[in-house]
Amino acid sequence: MSYNAIRSRIDGGDVVILDGAIGTEILRRNLSWADHRLKDEPDAIRDLHADYILAGADVLTTNSFQLARRSFLGHFRDKAHMRHIGAPGLENRASELLAASVELAQEARASVATERPVAIAGAVTTLEWCFRPDLAPSEAQMRGEYREIMEVLADAGADLILLETVNSIREASVGLAAASEAGLPCWVSFVCDEDGLLFTGETMAQAEEALAPLEPDAVMVNCAPPDDTTAGLRELLESRSEPCGLYPHIGRFDPPEWLFTDEYPPPRYLEEAERWAEMGARIIGGCCGTTPEHIQAIARRLGDGAA
Ligand SMILES: [Zn+2]
Repeated sequence: MSYNAIRSRIDGGDVVILDGAIGTEILRRNLSWADHRLKDEPDAIRDLHADYILAGADVLTTNSFQLARRSFLGHFRDKAHMRHIGAPGLENRASELLAASVELAQEARASVATERPVAIAGAVTTLEWCFRPDLAPSEAQMRGEYREIMEVLADAGADLILLETVNSIREASVGLAAASEAGLPCWVSFVCDEDGLLFTGETMAQAEEALAPLEPDAVMVNCAPPDDTTAGLRELLESRSEPCGLYPHIGRFDPPEWLFTDEYPPPRYLEEAERWAEMGARIIGGCCGTTPEHIQAIARRLGDGAA
């Protein structure tokens, strides 16, 4: 299985390359992001995944940011209201799109001839907004919802789960447990601030201690500027011997879209990535604002090479 090959490369001390941004890259390619474009622009999504494989990514992340039942239900007074005024099929739309997101990544993988094993990570983020831990639902609610998401991703054939941009230990623990129950290995990635702390103020050491019994396959930081994720990585490495990694964003958040800046062109991003690898990062990729060119730059130097 492709994940085992990735895992043994990490265990052997290699740097594994994660892909770059999906959502912002769809925007950069002049498409809007409604419905994640999974149904009406499948070729664009497939091409984007394929571009990341060709750039040298070992792990593809699915185009499934915040695809959860509550993302649709949240627009209505309640379920009855959604049935009354909503478009048909909204109740199952999240699950259908989640499954489609895995299928498109699989099709992209099948379309690119490469010797490298490529794994597909089902990308799952917080149930509510990823930068707002105060909005998180109760633990009991979370449990049911994460279970549903993880089962859909497992049934669709994801090789692992990337539980990303998580803002609290509590939500990370619930999501990680749900991934294990679904039988999938799980990488947990926290969003962090400039001091390398979670948005709840919790430390990476506390996170590591709380998550250890649930045995995450890797713990990472993402969706913060390079300097912030460097701080988070440093904190993580102090408390964790298992694989750590990171994938920062570059540019500025311009809700609901993204402002691309030229602060981190691929050569500068590579310089940062070399520093992270020296520090001990074993998984390196890119979050919002990064492109296949960024991934290619780091894969050529640090990874197994481009396809
Ligand atoms: Zn991001």
